[in-house]
Amino acid sequence: MPLTVFTSDRFVDHLNPPGHPERVERAEVMQVVAAEFRERGGTVIEAGMVSDEALARVHDRDYIALVRETAGRATALDADTYTSPDTYDVVRLAAGAAVAAVDHVLDGGADTRALAMVRPPGHHAERDRAMGFCLFNNVAVAAAHARARGITRVAIVDYDVHHGNGTQWSFFDDPTVLFVSSHQFPFYPGTGAAGEVGSGAGQGFTVNLPVSAGATDADFELLYSRIALPVLRQFAPELILVSAGFDAHQDDPLGGLRLTTDQLGRLTAHLVTVASECCEGRLVAVTEGGYDLQALAGCLRTVTRVLAGDTGLEDFPVPTGATPRGDATLAAARPALAKYWQL
Ligand SMILES: [Zn+2]
Repeated sequence: MPLTVFTSDRFVDHLNPPGHPERVERAEVMQVVAAEFRERGGTVIEAGMVSDEALARVHDRDYIALVRETAGRATALDADTYTSPDTYDVVRLAAGAAVAAVDHVLDGGADTRALAMVRPPGHHAERDRAMGFCLFNNVAVAAAHARARGITRVAIVDYDVHHGNGTQWSFFDDPTVLFVSSHQFPFYPGTGAAGEVGSGAGQGFTVNLPVSAGATDADFELLYSRIALPVLRQFAPELILVSAGFDAHQDDPLGGLRLTTDQLGRLTAHLVTVASECCEGRLVAVTEGGYDLQALAGCLRTVTRVLAGDTGLEDFPVPTGATPRGDATLAAARPALAKYWQL
């Protein structure tokens, strides 16, 4: 089977205050989906902890020390990002799963794929601060690890409903890491306008697709087929990472988009297709948000089947219907990107 899942039974040990959407039950859903995958003959590997060296490629040493000092304590790191006594271990396991997934894919043959099923999410975490439920930026640490291993072009595609600000800033001036994000806008965390395209040598290597609340499957199909996928193909990555958040789902209590489980599977299948064209199928998905437990379970099952090769692009319906929100995003994003990509 082309897919290996990296996760940890300890992801239940990070506790947020009562009523917080990023809750222990999310880890229990991940455990159920991982167990189902194992029963079908899939390999599930228990994550180890990330090294300080790997974290320090993305995060300041002082910030890593600050998070370490929360071990054994319940603290608040920002308005909605908390620690409990075991959080420090859990966040090192989450980043460790993402790094191990990269190692697995780089050491494997063609069409080796991995899914790091982790919590808490990571894409809001910046160089020196926790925010938006995120402490360490799992996908950014994974991308930096791939770069350190000699991969010269890494693409990160983020379809979480929120903009991955931490990932964007980690590589904003870096032409070797392409960051493509589709997200509700305006919305938390406030970044991710179409005009944010990178700086210095990294100009053109940040691609933001901000979409209005209410956007549908058809809007997303338009944006991926007209911008995200063509840019990816032109960049020709040696490895594709996916920030696989499922809070753009229509049932999500935080997000205001209307994607179906099928469409999140379809977007993933598109990325698997590009990976097979560009980089011998090498793809690593790392989970981010997703706060409706049933939608989370459904999306994890679907994405697992897509990455395992059981379900392909042709198995998902082609979305139809008007695309007013997608058209508006195209109108904003195309001029911002025209200097850098043929679109
Ligand atoms: Zn999110």
